[in-house]
Amino acid sequence: MQPVFPEYIQFLKSHNCDTNWFRENTFWLDNNIVKAFKRGGQIVSLYRVSVDDNLCLTLTKHKQNKNFDYFETWQKTIQRNQDRLCQIEQDSISLLRQQGLNTDRRIINTNSTGKDSMVATYLAKKAGLNFETFFNVTTLDVAESNQMAKRNGYQHIFPDPQYGGFYQYVHNSGMIPNRFTRFCCQYFKERPTVDYFNADEKLLLVFGIRNEESNQRSNYDDIIKNPLWGNRDWIGVLPIRKWTELDIWPYILAENIEINPKYKYGYTRVGCGIACPYYTKYTWVLDKYWYPYLYNRWRDILRNDFVSNNKWLIMNCTIKEYVTKAWTGGVFRIEPTDEVIQEYAEYSGLDIEVAKKYFNRFCSNGCINKRSQPLKIKDKNTIAMNMKMFGRDIERFKCKKCLMKEFGWCKEQWDQQVQSFKEQGCKLF
Ligand SMILES: [Zn+2]
Repeated sequence: MQPVFPEYIQFLKSHNCDTNWFRENTFWLDNNIVKAFKRGGQIVSLYRVSVDDNLCLTLTKHKQNKNFDYFETWQKTIQRNQDRLCQIEQDSISLLRQQGLNTDRRIINTNSTGKDSMVATYLAKKAGLNFETFFNVTTLDVAESNQMAKRNGYQHIFPDPQYGGFYQYVHNSGMIPNRFTRFCCQYFKERPTVDYFNADEKLLLVFGIRNEESNQRSNYDDIIKNPLWGNRDWIGVLPIRKWTELDIWPYILAENIEINPKYKYGYTRVGCGIACPYYTKYTWVLDKYWYPYLYNRWRDILRNDFVSNNKWLIMNCTIKEYVTKAWTGGVFRIEPTDEVIQEYAEYSGLDIEVAKKYFNRFCSNGCINKRSQPLKIKDKNTIAMNMKMFGRDIERFKCKKCLMKEFGWCKEQWDQQVQSFKEQGCKLF
């Protein structure tokens, strides 16, 4: 749940939504539903924001919306929650003082410029701690976040130069992050922070992590140790772990804490723009509007990756399906549709009947993969080699390893053969 700012209304308007109901400093956005507090503090749902697979956005009136004449302003909501806000602020400051005053540890506060980070840093200051704030440059942050970190004088932690930035890494490795292989979190977020500080130094780390954020985080106590730290003498303190979003935002508004502009645009998270596979179409529609250059650049990367790696054969989806949604997950569907085969045939210059043969082939010698399932042949050249050597009408295909064994080829000879068939103009390859 977060406040609705005029920037978000501008975004809705540009998608032809009727926003005449809008008043400043009044509305909230909760899981794509616009809400407000009635007199007495009861919350009601007013409008639903929907996004379809083509990123078309619509705003519809919620059935709870009964043309109310009064809604509580943010100011009133803050006043109504004054006691609770005072209490949780005091609890957080006590914890910080207990851990961070009269300690021999160096106190490090990491701040992503997100809302929780900003509150944690603010409280550490209010508690009178002697600490340093660090911003982790993921190379995927938008300009607004980088500028905010700079403006506040946070020190910067850069990723390991061997990986370069995120886009450099994707380019060099040919890897696209998805929900099963999230190399980016580790290389650009978790590892750099751990490696930055001297392992022999005693640290107290102040994090703006909240229990409410995820299942994993719901078990965190006031004090944590991260398995990534190994045997380093580091402890983490979580001063706002018990805070809810409905504590964080009124507190930010009441204390006038700086807000990352991404929240005003309608984003629920500020970290890792554009390419994080955990975002959904509700974020992509925002990206398309607020960051069209970055949005299009990432989709160009996805398109090139799909075509150059013949991902039709791996994902069983079209380029458009991959670029709009399928890239975040695993195999998109079990069997390719006619449209998928048609597109693959066009891009490869093959007849439909031949193109069909490239999909869902398993090694007929009974080879298995790491999970003990039949080995799927995903490599275009291997399918091509089967047909080149045994004729286009074959039904039984063998994997690369089995073919190499059968022909007595080493890897270099295989590559040479593939290359020479390509040079002869064989369309199968
Ligand atoms: Zn095999």
